[in-house]
Amino acid sequence: MDMSKDRSDITRLTVLGESLCLDFANTVGWHASSEPQEWISDYGQLAKWSVHAGVITEEKKNELLIQSIQFADEANQVYTEAIELREAIYRIFKDEIYKGEINREDLAVLNRWIKRSFSYLEIIKPSASYRLSFNGTKELDQMIWPIVQSAMDLLTSEDKKRVKQCEGGTCGWLFLDTSRNKSRRWCSMEDCGNRAKAKRHYNRKKHENLTKH
Ligand SMILES: [Zn+2]
Repeated sequence: MDMSKDRSDITRLTVLGESLCLDFANTVGWHASSEPQEWISDYGQLAKWSVHAGVITEEKKNELLIQSIQFADEANQVYTEAIELREAIYRIFKDEIYKGEINREDLAVLNRWIKRSFSYLEIIKPSASYRLSFNGTKELDQMIWPIVQSAMDLLTSEDKKRVKQCEGGTCGWLFLDTSRNKSRRWCSMEDCGNRAKAKRHYNRKKHENLTKH
């Protein structure tokens, strides 16, 4: 969850790489706390994160940044709607874990994005075989479409049951537990896992000291 990191540099944000839509949901630090910390502060940061997460190329990002200066209002609108989608994705999977049902408004946000994104889907033939690909060369919101697809795929698949929320305090990060016995508890061992271990160690020491006296 990257508590103490400099949030102006989006490349320092951990990308778990298990599920694109969950990584997008995790662009907030301490997401489950009353003071969540925003990593994506504007359209430029959204474009930079998209490169960092492997959604678009550096070259594409540079094109989009030029576009976003020319069409600043549209870029701001895309940013606002992207954040709205991100929070809907976050609540959808969190509610699935804890309530087993999701908010209709959140689903409506995702459904709107599905319609919007999939109008750019087409069959291409890059080599011997055909495949589906998003094609919207100049669209400012194109980095969102694969995220939408990821959320749609995850929500409608059996993997949905493997989505968990980190147990590290108010970290709030979501991850896909691919361990065989479904025993994973933290977003990452290096981060919340270590913090939990250090805390356990501290509590044990405190307890040992107390019992000595
Ligand atoms: Zn965590």
